[in-house]
This record gives sequence, C-alpha cells and structure tokens, in this order.
Amino acid sequence: MIATQIRTEKVQQSRVDSVDWNNLPFGKIFSDHMFLSDYKDGEWTNDRIVPFGHFTIHPASMVLHYGQAIFEGMKASKLNDGTPVLLSPIEHAKRINASARRMMMAEFPEERFVEAVSQLVALDKDWIPPAEGSALYLRPYMYATDEFIGVRPSETYTFCIFTAPVGPYYAKPVRLLVEQHYVRAVPGGTGEAKAAGNYAASLRPAFEAQQKGFDQVVWMGGPNMTQIQEVGTMNIFFVIDGEVITPATDGAILKGITRKNFITILRDQGYKVTERVIEIDEIVEAYDAGKLQEMFGAGTAAVVSHVAELQYQDKLMTLPAVEDRKVGPMLKKYIDGLRSGAVEDKFGWLVKL
Ligand code: PMP
Repeated sequence: MIATQIRTEKVQQSRVDSVDWNNLPFGKIFSDHMFLSDYKDGEWTNDRIVPFGHFTIHPASMVLHYGQAIFEGMKASKLNDGTPVLLSPIEHAKRINASARRMMMAEFPEERFVEAVSQLVALDKDWIPPAEGSALYLRPYMYATDEFIGVRPSETYTFCIFTAPVGPYYAKPVRLLVEQHYVRAVPGGTGEAKAAGNYAASLRPAFEAQQKGFDQVVWMGGPNMTQIQEVGTMNIFFVIDGEVITPATDGAILKGITRKNFITILRDQGYKVTERVIEIDEIVEAYDAGKLQEMFGAGTAAVVSHVAELQYQDKLMTLPAVEDRKVGPMLKKYIDGLRSGAVEDKFGWLVKL
C-alpha cells in the first residue's frame, strides 16, 4: 500500500456517546470525522481528515448547474473479536473511477481511496454499530467545484468520504411494478455510472409507482422495453427451476458489487448462474409453469430485498413465501456472516483495519 500523507485534525469531543444504538435511523446520523481531498492543477492535494461539518459552496460551482457528481455506498463492520473490516473496498475504488471516466471527472488513485477509507474508519471505529447486520455506512463522493458558467468538464473537484452508522436492515418483501414508460438507462447512457443525476431521474417513476401502491419499479430496457434491467437501486436476481439468472451488464446496468459477490458465492456452491438478457415474458411463463421460485434485489444497503409481488401490465404475480426460499436467505446470511466473522472469508474480500 502506498503511504499517503493524510493530515488529521481530530474533534475535541466525540459525539459517539449520544448515539442510541437500538434506534438508528438510516442515513441521518453522521460520525465525528470526514475525509477530504482537493483536485486542482491536474492532481489531488491536501488529503485530510477533519471534524464532520458543513461546506461553503460558490453559487457558480459547476456541480450545481451541470451535475458532475458521483458517489459510492459501502460498509464497514466489526468481526466478533472487535476488528473493524471493510468488504471489497478496492471494488468500490474501481467503480468510482469508472463513474469518473464516464462523467469526465478526475480519477482518485485506488490504493489512496482504500487508505483514506481505512484511516477514516479506524479513527471512527467506535461508530461501527455492534449488532450483526448493522454497519457503518460509508459515502465516498466527488463533485465539480469550478466557479464557472458554461458546459465543459470542471478542472477542480472535491472528494469527500463521510460515514453514518446504520441499524440492521430488515427489508420487508416488496411489491414491484414493471415500468415500461419511464426508462432509467440505455446502453451508452450513464446507467453504468453511479452518477447523482441518475437518482434524481428515478424519483418521478418511483413516486408514480408508489401512488399506485407499489414499493418500487422494475427498470426495463431493450427495443420494446421488455428486457429486465434492475429494481429500484438494486440489481435483480431470479431463481427459476433451481437456476439463478440475472441480467447481463450491458452498459445500462450498474455493476453492483453485491451482484458480483453473489455470483461468486453461488458458483462456488455449485449453483448454475447465468448472466444474460431476461425478457419479461420468460418470467411470466416461468411463473405460470410454477417454476419461478425466487426474485430478489441485491445491493449494499439491504443486501437482499425479497420480492413479494410483481405487477406486469394486468398480471399480478405472487411469489412464494420468504420462508420457502433458499437462495436469497442464504446469500443474506452469508454476507452478514462475513461482515461479523461468522463466515470464513474464503475469497479474500475483507480488509481488516
Ligand atoms: N443498482 C443501482 C442503480 C444502485 O444504485 C446500486 C447501489 N449502489 C446497486 C445496483 C447495487 O450495487 P452495490 O451492490 O454495489 O451496492
């Protein structure tokens, strides 16, 4: 690992004692410190860990107008013996740089990213919640700071990482609507980047689905909007007649790190996992034939989000009860166990701090 100089200014008084660990709202409580680095004159400078606090921002900051903003979402947890660990941090470092390339932003060196996350989490390790399934959620992100009006890539950026303790995420099974009017992404668009604007664009379709009584939408693509892409902010998996299938990443789908880890775990356990184009008609056929055993979303926040119901045009499909499912529950248990030390890290995904 490259030794990076990170200047550290600690808080005078930690706020950690004020946290109610049994009642952690998602994404509203922030730890004591944050990491910052500034990009100017073609390089990242002034890496520092400072007390968590507000920014001042110039009204003409380019991010506010042209939207060069990208982010990551990852987690730190504690093994049973108290050692803080990160899961797949290098994958997140690589993905933020893939996002940066697509949005014409500056890449942040990957080992330096892991070093920054590691030092920040080590300093705020008392903020990692103790209960299995809970975690310290980490939010690395980058935004354009040139004070300029006019569309071109910014020449200056801020890279920030802050952290937020989150409780165990007991996601209740969701009701989904197949969305064939609005589109999240097309190959060649920005769907493969974790760009802030993608999330803004998803809000109207999600709102309209919620108005109709659903929790989220299934994003569709392809020439006739019949190919399944993702669900909300998660990748999607199906179990049909014992085979696990998930849409192949085609440039429109975010390359989820949970998705990648799931595929590795499943193949290691002897499951047949296929990444390919999935047509909604096949899902309907499998359902009608009684072969649609599971459907779930995969992502860092919830790990697994089971699908209870799927509405496609006039057809409502009701999936088997979660108690009768094997694959999704196994994967959730595996990832939570890995983060707490109950499951052996046989693929070397953990970084111990
Ligand atoms: N798809 C989208 C659109 C997402 O925002 C996320 C969350 N990052 C995912 C999939 C899942 O990715 P990951 O497993 O890396 O959290």
